[in-house]
Amino acid sequence: MDTNTASTWLEIDRSIIRENTRILCRHAGVLVMAVTKGNAYGHGAGEVARAAVEGGAQWVGVARLEEARVVREAGVTVPILVLGFVHPLRAAEIHELQATVPAFDLDMATALSDQAVKIGCKIPVHVKVDSGMRRLGTFAETGKDFFLELMKLPGLQITGLFTHFPILDEVRHPTTYIQLARFKKLVAELDEAGINRGLVHGITSAGLLYLPEARFDMVRTGIAVVGLQSTADMPQFDGIRPAMAWKTQIISIKTIPAGEGVGYNHRYFTKAAERIGVIAAGYGDGVRRRLGNFVLVGGKRVNVVGGMCMDQCMVNLDEVPDARVGDEVVLIGRQGDAVITAEEIAANWNTTNYEVVTGIRGRVQRYYI
Ligand SMILES: *Cc1c(COP(=O)(O)O)cnc(C)c1O
Repeated sequence: MDTNTASTWLEIDRSIIRENTRILCRHAGVLVMAVTKGNAYGHGAGEVARAAVEGGAQWVGVARLEEARVVREAGVTVPILVLGFVHPLRAAEIHELQATVPAFDLDMATALSDQAVKIGCKIPVHVKVDSGMRRLGTFAETGKDFFLELMKLPGLQITGLFTHFPILDEVRHPTTYIQLARFKKLVAELDEAGINRGLVHGITSAGLLYLPEARFDMVRTGIAVVGLQSTADMPQFDGIRPAMAWKTQIISIKTIPAGEGVGYNHRYFTKAAERIGVIAAGYGDGVRRRLGNFVLVGGKRVNVVGGMCMDQCMVNLDEVPDARVGDEVVLIGRQGDAVITAEEIAANWNTTNYEVVTGIRGRVQRYYI
């Protein structure tokens, strides 16, 4: 792709997503769910889900029922688990999309069952267990009673059991082992009682790296599928690579005389006559509106100067005298020998790489290669 008419765009490499998923499947040795919530962390839920399934993922996970629809419309036929809230009045839609939803609250599960009975279907549910996240889920300690109550509901069919760990990205944190013990105890209680608990799953990308005893029947991986690290200092399996490059182009270049204020509120003043380029990405695309941003031009790292605008920002091009209007600018990814990673931007923005890529707005064109 050497010419591009978009202002700012993502290039997403499907073969990398397939290969990442293959690597994850090989290491997991159990079923792999590709989590594509948040528009697959900004990469595009439909395309990522399809590529991940081609790479061997047997399940797709989403956060919302709307996202399940996007994945189905992309032609994905494997089971989809909605990980978060689905209103019980959406039973018909759940059924239409062949989605599995979580059961974490008895009143809500009862309402969902009632709706399913009205429609004349059974909705598959995975029981969500709170082993220490303190978000959604029935307490692990009383999970068996919850399970028994759910089993009485005629509109639901329990096909799985899962939990979520809040501190997996801090390798071998003691809390993780406390949670794991609670969850395993519940699984054992259900097994002893001869209750079919379906697929058991707990860990995410980070846990796959160092917690083999928590793989159970399935692992849920999102960030590693798109090739990013769970945290900047977390190692990654060999061969896993970022699938996304975020680019824009230079749309104007001017030499601005010394001592001139640049951009809104004149947050930057030229020190000498400076070659200032305008690039076509701004906070309306998901670039954080703060000082200290940087991009790649001509294989060199250059600074964004002045305040971030909604649709544009300005960069100092003194170090790249050959730069011309129409040249490619990289916000995330590689250019020549230079690279900017989502992890690096996250450190700069004082957030996580998850938020950086998930925050890339819908209007940024996605190109799949
Ligand atoms: C986001 C999420 C995942 C995937 O986590 P990664 O760190 O991206 O692998 C798995 N399970 C649940 C419940 C999640 O919310």
